[in-house]
Amino acid sequence: MASLIRVLDPQSANRIAAGEVVERPVSVIKELVENSLDAGAKHIEIAVEGRGTSLIRVQDDGSGIPAAEMPLAVLRHATSKIRRVEDLDTLSTLGFRGEALPSIASVSRLALTSRPPGEISGRILRLEGGQRVSFDEIGAPVGTTVSVENLFYNAPARLKFLRSDNTEFGLISDVVGRIALAHPEVAFKLTHPEQTVLQTAGRGRLLESIGTVLGKELARRLLPLSLEQGIWSLAGYLSPPDLVRSSRQAVTFIVNGRCVRSPVLMRALEEGYHTLIPVKLHPLAVLHLKLPASEYDVNVHPAKMEVKFAHEQALADFLTAAVRRTLLDAGRGRRNSHCQ
Ligand code: ADP
Ligand code: MG
Repeated sequence: MASLIRVLDPQSANRIAAGEVVERPVSVIKELVENSLDAGAKHIEIAVEGRGTSLIRVQDDGSGIPAAEMPLAVLRHATSKIRRVEDLDTLSTLGFRGEALPSIASVSRLALTSRPPGEISGRILRLEGGQRVSFDEIGAPVGTTVSVENLFYNAPARLKFLRSDNTEFGLISDVVGRIALAHPEVAFKLTHPEQTVLQTAGRGRLLESIGTVLGKELARRLLPLSLEQGIWSLAGYLSPPDLVRSSRQAVTFIVNGRCVRSPVLMRALEEGYHTLIPVKLHPLAVLHLKLPASEYDVNVHPAKMEVKFAHEQALADFLTAAVRRTLLDAGRGRRNSHCQ
């Protein structure tokens, strides 16, 4: 990747600025892992201690950051991913605001170590509360490692707002699991503190990742769905109507590799199950939706968790129809096999 990190012009920066993206440890993990994915990493290792405030470390084997650009990476609104707001129409990366690293650095002790392929050695840039402490040459593997210590040490209000180690780590493993489902082609490893909590193979098989993240028994029961129509392509796995959950937590929507919360898609999915499962119960699903970047706006939510679709209703109808057909076909298949 020959992309240069540059500071966005003030107008562009203002139109996409999100303000605070680092609310709690899980936000740090999400931002760092997304950076690793944007860098084309094939292996991403995430180490967490406690609830993430003592240590979060994300190591990748991605494209790395050239030494001369490392100081830029931690500047506000400095990004290699877009040049101007219009670039969002063709966005192919998860990040674009240039806010994550500076925001994280301002509330922690951060070390950014990076070595692009072709460089003999790496560099390590250390910051404390956003201020540079040192910038040195260092032996390092190809890729980037960001380690974040003492998160929120200078933000007592944030610290006070955090819950127990278990709750915070629960949020972290949930998000890492969903990102792993969004990227079966990447091998993820999550450790806490020294124990491996999650490890995916990165072989590009979604069902294999679902088995690792949600359980093999469950994965075996899911129904495959795959459908293309015009600019939309939908693929993934759904629960049969007799496999339900009491919450909507077991649904993961992935739009062009980005995990999103979408009331529109959720309603459309549940509409597909209408009359097949009891009201108040919910299906389980992992669905990858691919569509042109110009068909939705990701610049509507600070953490980019929500997107706004241009043709919301038509998309919802497409999803409902795809789900309905998958469920009815599976039902028919089962009935036939009982007859034999
Ligand atoms: P954004 O992701 O919105 O561009 P960030 O603050 O997250 O902003 O990162 C700033 C820049 O630092 C990125 O645009 C990218 O060029 C570089 N960068 C950050 N993390 C990595 C990484 N893991 N590998 C390679 N480059 C990275
Ligand atoms: Mg980023």
